[in-house]
Amino acid sequence: MKKIAVLTSGGDAPGMNACLRAVVRYGIYREYKIYGIERGYAGLIKGDIFQMYPRSVSDIIQRGGTILKTARSLEFKQFEVREQAVENLRSRDIDNLIVIGGDGSYAGALALHKEFGINVIGIPGTIDNDLAYTDFTLGFDTAVNTVLGAINNLRDTNASHERVSIVEVMGRNCGDIALYSGLAGGCEYVLVPEIKTDFKEVAERVNLSAKRGKTSNMIVFAEGAGDKTELISTIKQITGRTPTVTTLGHIQRGGSPSNVDRVLAAQFASYAVDLLCKGEGAKAVGIKDNKIFAMDLEAALNEKKDIDKNLYKMTQLLSL
Ligand code: ADP
Repeated sequence: MKKIAVLTSGGDAPGMNACLRAVVRYGIYREYKIYGIERGYAGLIKGDIFQMYPRSVSDIIQRGGTILKTARSLEFKQFEVREQAVENLRSRDIDNLIVIGGDGSYAGALALHKEFGINVIGIPGTIDNDLAYTDFTLGFDTAVNTVLGAINNLRDTNASHERVSIVEVMGRNCGDIALYSGLAGGCEYVLVPEIKTDFKEVAERVNLSAKRGKTSNMIVFAEGAGDKTELISTIKQITGRTPTVTTLGHIQRGGSPSNVDRVLAAQFASYAVDLLCKGEGAKAVGIKDNKIFAMDLEAALNEKKDIDKNLYKMTQLLSL
């Protein structure tokens, strides 16, 4: 019987469990034996590989995180270590591997394909939405909903105290969490790493909005968007108001996956298994214009992500 191994790697994301469940059950339906690998590439190196059954993935569709656990493995970047890791697949007659993770995990998977001919399929699992080839990654929608919940709560207290409030969200290189939650949360300003923002302009906008009758302001700040301390001091200096800062941190990683992420998980997983059925390897599964698709893994990794300028402009236009 043919076999597929599956691992989750890099940063955890809500929807990874739902995706694992779908890989296991759909894979079994397509007559594969399915093997779970614990702690990403670290477990592959150690040989922490075990067979999974439909009941192995009971009661996990609604859980954030990943029951397979995830880890970062620096060692895996060495060829000799990957050679040993592949031996752990070969000795079990496994030549298909589904990797659920971000761009680093994809780079590891690509190496396994190029060097050892393993049929690898990448499923995008990261809250950051920082993979350019796909419109959305697993976990992003849930993370944005989590941020929105926080923004809604902050709005209540902001309005009552007439505050200027800064919400710091994840996004070192990719501002999508900030952009989508800022737009959906009706925030006045969104600061993202991709677009250099003049902090004076932000402060002047706060003043302008006060003139227009706004008594409170909400600014979404992606962690990679510049020097937060400088933003705070510029706002203080120009507006005379002291902004409050709420840093959401790892709260954004957790939580029960949204409807969108659970459905995406099932679609990505079944598409990945179908590709392996057709003997295709080194592919990345994604969604573009609402359609599930796959493309060459290396080409997917080489695509450069940019922020959606139209959405960014919309956040400004709607915050009058
Ligand atoms: P993510 O997949 O979320 O981007 P990381 O960048 O931490 O997370 O990557 C996850 C793991 O993938 C790393 O710990 C490492 O084991 C493996 N990896 C990353 N880059 C490479 C690479 N260039 N070659 C081989 N393995 C890599």
